[in-house]
Amino acid sequence: MADKLHEIPVTSLKGVGAALADKLAKIGIHTLQDLLFHLPLRYQDRTRITPLGTLQFGMDAVIQGTVVAADIVNGRRRSLLCRVQDGTGSISLRFYHFSGAQRNAMKRGAIIRCFGEPRRGASGLEMYHPEYRIISDDQTTTVEDTLTPVYPSTEGLTQQRLRTLCSQALGFMHHPDALQEWLPASLLSAYHQWPLVEAIRYLHNPPPDADVQTMLEGQHPAQHRLAFEELLAHHLSLQKIRYRIRRQEGHPMPARHKLTTQFLEQLPFTPTGAQQRVAKEIGQDLSQSAPMLRLVQGDVGSGKTVVAALAALQAVENDFQAALMAPTEILAEQHYANFSQWLRPLGITVAWLTGKTKGKKREQQLELIRTGEAAVIIGTHALFQEEVTFNRLGLAIIDEQHRFGVHQRLALKEKGHGATPHQLIMTATPIPRTLAMSVYSDLDCSVIDELPPGRTPVNTIVISDDRRDQIIGRVRDACLEGRQAYWVCTLIEESEALQCQAAEVTAEKLRELLPELSIGLIHGRMKATEKAEVMEAFKEGHLHLLVATTVIEVGVDVPNASLMIIENPERLGLAQLHQLRGRVGRGKVASHCVLMYHGPLSQQGKERLQVMRDSTDGFVIAEKDLELRGPGEVLGTRQTGMIDFRVADLQRDEQLLDTVKQAASLLMTEHPESIEPLIRRWLPQGDRYAEA
Ligand code: ADP
Ligand code: MG
Repeated sequence: MADKLHEIPVTSLKGVGAALADKLAKIGIHTLQDLLFHLPLRYQDRTRITPLGTLQFGMDAVIQGTVVAADIVNGRRRSLLCRVQDGTGSISLRFYHFSGAQRNAMKRGAIIRCFGEPRRGASGLEMYHPEYRIISDDQTTTVEDTLTPVYPSTEGLTQQRLRTLCSQALGFMHHPDALQEWLPASLLSAYHQWPLVEAIRYLHNPPPDADVQTMLEGQHPAQHRLAFEELLAHHLSLQKIRYRIRRQEGHPMPARHKLTTQFLEQLPFTPTGAQQRVAKEIGQDLSQSAPMLRLVQGDVGSGKTVVAALAALQAVENDFQAALMAPTEILAEQHYANFSQWLRPLGITVAWLTGKTKGKKREQQLELIRTGEAAVIIGTHALFQEEVTFNRLGLAIIDEQHRFGVHQRLALKEKGHGATPHQLIMTATPIPRTLAMSVYSDLDCSVIDELPPGRTPVNTIVISDDRRDQIIGRVRDACLEGRQAYWVCTLIEESEALQCQAAEVTAEKLRELLPELSIGLIHGRMKATEKAEVMEAFKEGHLHLLVATTVIEVGVDVPNASLMIIENPERLGLAQLHQLRGRVGRGKVASHCVLMYHGPLSQQGKERLQVMRDSTDGFVIAEKDLELRGPGEVLGTRQTGMIDFRVADLQRDEQLLDTVKQAASLLMTEHPESIEPLIRRWLPQGDRYAEA
C-alpha cells in the first residue's frame, strides 16, 4: 500500500477522460504523484478583498463593490465599461469581448466580485477582462483560505482545471502511506528539512501570509525540500552505478616501471607537474582490484594523450590489453597515429577498428584483438560492439566522455572476461562544479590544471562578416609569411551532408579569391584515406589553408597553424568554440582566432562571443556557458536525461549540493532501505539502465 500515488493514473480522477489525459501527458503528468510534483510557477492572493481605495497598480487583487453603471462605449474599439464602487473608491471594468447576457447581468445595484490586475486606463483605475462573479444577496461571501496557485500549463488546459485536479490529488494524501516519507526523521532534522507531505501541501496551497517573494525565487524551505529529495535521488542513482561497478572484480595492475619508463625516456619532452600527478593517481587506481572509475579533466592542449598512454602502458606491463575509444573517426585516427608512433619502438602492436574498417582489414584487426597480439587497441565506439572479442581487456580509456552515456560504462563489463576493466574517462570540456557534483558524481576526478610550457595564448577577435574581404586579406598575408590557417565552416542544420556541402562551396570561393595559396578541404564525409592525406599535407606544410567543418574540433595537432577563422561562431556552444580555438596557439608564434559572426547578434549572442574574447580558460568559459545556456546545452543532448529535473534546478539549487552528498552517504550507511524507493520515485526511467 505504501507509496501508491505514482501507480494511480490521472484518469482515475473525476472528469479526466482520454482527451484531458493527453493534455496532461504533454506536461509530463501521468499519475497522481506527477500532479503533486507539478509545482506552481507563482501565486495569486485571493484570500482577502482589497478596498478599492487602497488598490495598487500592477498587483493582482480581489475587489468587491456595487455596479453603478454599465455602458457600451464606442471608442477606438467597442467595449463594455462597468463602473463599480465600494465606499472607499471606484474602478472601471472593461470588456472588449462580451455577450448580451453578460451585459444584462451587470445591472445597476448588482454586487460584483472580481479578480484582476488594476491598471491606469482612460477612465482612471481599470481592470481589463477580470475574472468576475455576480453575488446574490443571500450568498455568503467567502474568500479563499489559501493563496491560489498558478501552474505551468499547456494549450487547452485551464488553471481552473489544474487546480481542481491538484486539490483532488492532495485529497489522496490523507492516507498516511499514499506518499511515503523516505527520509528518516534524523536526517530531516539534521538538514532542517520539512516533511515531504507538509512541503507539498504548502506549495500547492500556501497560507495567506506565505513569503511569496521567496517562493518566486525558488528559495522557500518547502521548495528546498523537494529539490533536495530529487537531487538526492539522482545522486543515489549514480552512486548505485558506481557501487555496482566498484564491487565487481577487476584486474589489479601494479606499476612495474618498465614500459612506462622506456616510453618517458623516448618522449621529446618532460611531462608537466600536473600530468605527472594525474598519471600517478591513475597508476594507483590501476594497482587495485576494484575497477577504476576515473574522470580526467584537462583543458584542450593540456596533454591528456600522454597521460592516457602511460595508463595504457601500465596495463600492457601487466599483460593486459588497453582500448582507447574516441568519439569520432578523425580523433581516433589522430590517436592511432600518436600511439603507433610512440608504442611501436617499444615492440607493441596497436590495432585499429572503427565502423568504417571493412572486409579483410576488419577481419585482420579483429584477429589481432582476439588473439591478444595487439596490446593496445584504438577505435571508435565500434570497439564495444558484440563481435569484438578482447583477449585480456584490462583498461578502457574513453576520450571525450560527454558524448557517451552512463549505460556504456556499465556495458563494459561484458568485454572483460569475467572481470571488469578499469575505466579512464577523459574530457577536454571542463565540467563546471555543479555539473561535476551531480552528473559525474559516480566518478573520481583528476584535473590536469597546467598547460605545457611555451604556449602563447591565442588572441581572439570578434568581427562582423561585413568585413569578410578584410579577413580574407589577412589570411593571405599570414600564409604568405609562412604561417598556416584554418577556416572553419559551421552550419545551423544538423545534416552532415549540408555541412560538408557548405565547406566545399567555401573552399571553392576561397580558391578563387586566393589563387596564390594552396587550399585543402576536410570534412566528415570524405573517406578515411582522403582525410588522412589532407591532414598529412597540412601537417607537412604543403597546404597554407585548411577549410574544414567542425570535425577538426578535437584532436588535430599542427603547431605551425597560428590563425583560425570561424564562420558564424554564434551557432556553436562556447565549449565547442573553445575546443576549436585550441587547435591554434600550439606553437611559438602568437596565434589569432577570428570569430566572424553574422549580425545582428542577440544580447546573449554578444555576451557569449565576448566571453570567448576575454578568456582562454576552459573552466571560466564552461561556467559562463552554463550560466547563459543551461546544463542541457553544455552537456550535449545525449545526457540531458540525467539533468532533466522536475523540481530542482542545478544553478538555483547549487547550495544544496553539498548537503545532498552528505545526506546520501548517511542514507547509504544508516538507511539503505530508503535508497531504492527514492530512486524509483524520481527516476523511474533513469534507473532502468542501471540494471545492466
Ligand atoms: P589534449 O589534452 O588536448 O588531448 P594533447 O595530448 O593532444 O592535448 O597534447 C597537445 C600537444 O602537446 C601534443 O602535441 C603533445 O605532444 C604536446 N605535449 C603534451 N604534453 C607536453 C609536455 N609536457 N610538454 C610539451 N609538450 C607536450
Ligand atoms: Mg586530446
